[in-house]
Amino acid sequence: MTRFDGYRLLACPLCHTIHATVNIVSFNFMAPEYWSDSYSASSLFDNRQGLRRCTACHDFYLQSDAPYIGHITSEQASRLVETPPPYIPPFLRHKIGSESSTPNTSSDTPNTGQSWLKRLKEWWRSTPHDQPQPENTKDAPAEEREQSKKYPRLESVNDKDLAGILENQEKYSVNLIQAARTLYWVYLNDAYRETAKVLTEKRQLPYSAFQPNETQINNMRTLLALLEFADGGSRAITIAELHRELGQFDRAIDILQKISAPSLKSETILDAARQGISAPIPIVYSYQKKK
Ligand SMILES: [Zn+2]
Repeated sequence: MTRFDGYRLLACPLCHTIHATVNIVSFNFMAPEYWSDSYSASSLFDNRQGLRRCTACHDFYLQSDAPYIGHITSEQASRLVETPPPYIPPFLRHKIGSESSTPNTSSDTPNTGQSWLKRLKEWWRSTPHDQPQPENTKDAPAEEREQSKKYPRLESVNDKDLAGILENQEKYSVNLIQAARTLYWVYLNDAYRETAKVLTEKRQLPYSAFQPNETQINNMRTLLALLEFADGGSRAITIAELHRELGQFDRAIDILQKISAPSLKSETILDAARQGISAPIPIVYSYQKKK
């Protein structure tokens, strides 16, 4: 179960603008869909590798590098923290502008990404930790209310920002670039995910549709090189998965066989490597299996 307790105030390490972020005291990681490259669809908690975008200077930083300024209660936050823009879950982020995947389109509405986004904003409630407006500000015009609020929300990086970060990578730390490359890897795999869903619905094996382009291959290779020097519990599985997606099956198998506490994820990736499958694959937990 995911629980929140007030808000944490964190300063942008670059321009020192203070942002507010909900203080999460327990997580629910459950998502309807998980993949071997760590993609999870509409997860209740998607940390985006800790990569944040400053609302003031528009530059990027890791949350772990943002100085902690203090804590405010949820009640204080309702007066001090800006209302977030409508929350659009990751699995829909790419689809805006894509006509083919527009859901629930009525025949009298033009099927464009923009109108769909507008309608999405109308019906999609913001994040579940939204605070109701306090009584005394309810009648004030929206702009006035917002101007009186002191802290913008902490924002995560968008997928569309990632290529720009990597083009200017000399500006950033190795850890930030590792986070950006990880997100870029998962993002670039999304096109295959869409194709795989269509093929699977047609009862066709999707794996041969995974044909990473030069950008994907270069990103995966560079990420592998960065991870060789990184720490972290799931690093070995990520390294093995990158080798597998690059078609280096023996290397992937070798790494996964040495894992002391195998998981469903590591076993699924090992099984795919043994079958010579390089495509990203769904990790299906028992509660997700169709009965
Ligand atoms: Zn800033």
